[in-house]
Amino acid sequence: MFIVELLINACIAFTGFYIISKIIHSTQFSSSTMKSIIIGLATGLLGVLLMFKGIQVNESLRMDLRHLPLVLLAFYGIRFPLVIATGVIGSSRFLFGVTPQAFVAFIAILAISTGMIYIHRKLLNRPFLQNIALNVWALLMITIAVLINLGFNETAILLLLSTWTIGLAVGVLSSMLTLDFQILNQQVQLYKKSAELDHLTGLYNRRVWDDRTAGLEQEGRIYNVLALDIDHFKHVNDTYGHGNGDLVLQQFANILKQETRPHDITARIGGEEFMILVYDLSPQKVVKVANRIRERIATERFQLDGFPAIEVTTSIGIAHGKHVHIQQMNVLADEALYAAKQQGRNRTILFDQADQQDIAATQSSTETIHS
Ligand code: GH3
Ligand code: MG
Ligand code: MG
Repeated sequence: MFIVELLINACIAFTGFYIISKIIHSTQFSSSTMKSIIIGLATGLLGVLLMFKGIQVNESLRMDLRHLPLVLLAFYGIRFPLVIATGVIGSSRFLFGVTPQAFVAFIAILAISTGMIYIHRKLLNRPFLQNIALNVWALLMITIAVLINLGFNETAILLLLSTWTIGLAVGVLSSMLTLDFQILNQQVQLYKKSAELDHLTGLYNRRVWDDRTAGLEQEGRIYNVLALDIDHFKHVNDTYGHGNGDLVLQQFANILKQETRPHDITARIGGEEFMILVYDLSPQKVVKVANRIRERIATERFQLDGFPAIEVTTSIGIAHGKHVHIQQMNVLADEALYAAKQQGRNRTILFDQADQQDIAATQSSTETIHS
């Protein structure tokens, strides 16, 4: 019976840990406060469940693993949920009666959580050791509480022996589960990032561009597609070497990052070709933005390895539209870019789908010509 109860408690703890870890790593929540409250309450409930389930040590003695969910939150270092869970687990002990013992147990839970915050900070870079230390700290506090409540006698020693063996075994096992989960999650995030980002510039790659822009025409929002291509880039490679060409590409991409807003999507589509998606701006405003980027590029000194800094220019084609299929917008932006190259480079040309007219903005950012 003891083994069955032990297994049931371990199963509850492992399943609870899995669900809570899933919530912690979830990206579905729009509000981080709401996420913290849900994690705190879920962890608190798991602790209460473990406390009510308990493990019968003999006819009169029961032990439980209510502290383990708190260890989980301390390991993740999430304080607000830890405070909520501590409150829920600590106060629910009073459901068994408002007694001095319940008060001691409440203080013990508070001490466990407070100390664990400190341990987490101290052993941040040693996750396995941190997990062991968190479990040992919790068991030490439980030991003190048991000795205060029961005194130093045979019953207390029996209870403490089973609490330490079972607490450590289930605690370390669940810690390994948590660690595995965290490592796996970090790896997934890393692979996801490296699959989405262009390794040379850190901008989104073509795959992300295609994914994020798919179905844009159905959103019903005005949007602009900017196509940029560095002027005479072959000359940079031929004169200063491919490595220096790469340096120019990196600095070029950094300027694009600085000159665009976080919700714009900026991607490296090919060798020295870039695309930017800009929502909502009118044709005049988007030309202004493009010219600001173009002028920033033209005035920047691009640092090279082994050569003096150089100047580089870019041509920009823009497609402005609404309800226009993204593939068509890409083609229109490319056509506008081609026209900018034909007209002498270092200029911006906009194709306004709505008006079915071209606006050519020449080297001067304020001048726009309607054709
Ligand atoms: P244009 O003004 O007409 O654009 O002339 P361009 O010389 O820039 O011509 P184009 O755009 O066709 O040149 C692209 C060059 O970019 C050719 C290729 O060697 C170079 N390139 C492509 N990818 C990379 C890269 O990852 N690193 C470096 N250094 N160069 C690249
Ligand atoms: Mg090119
Ligand atoms: Mg080029």
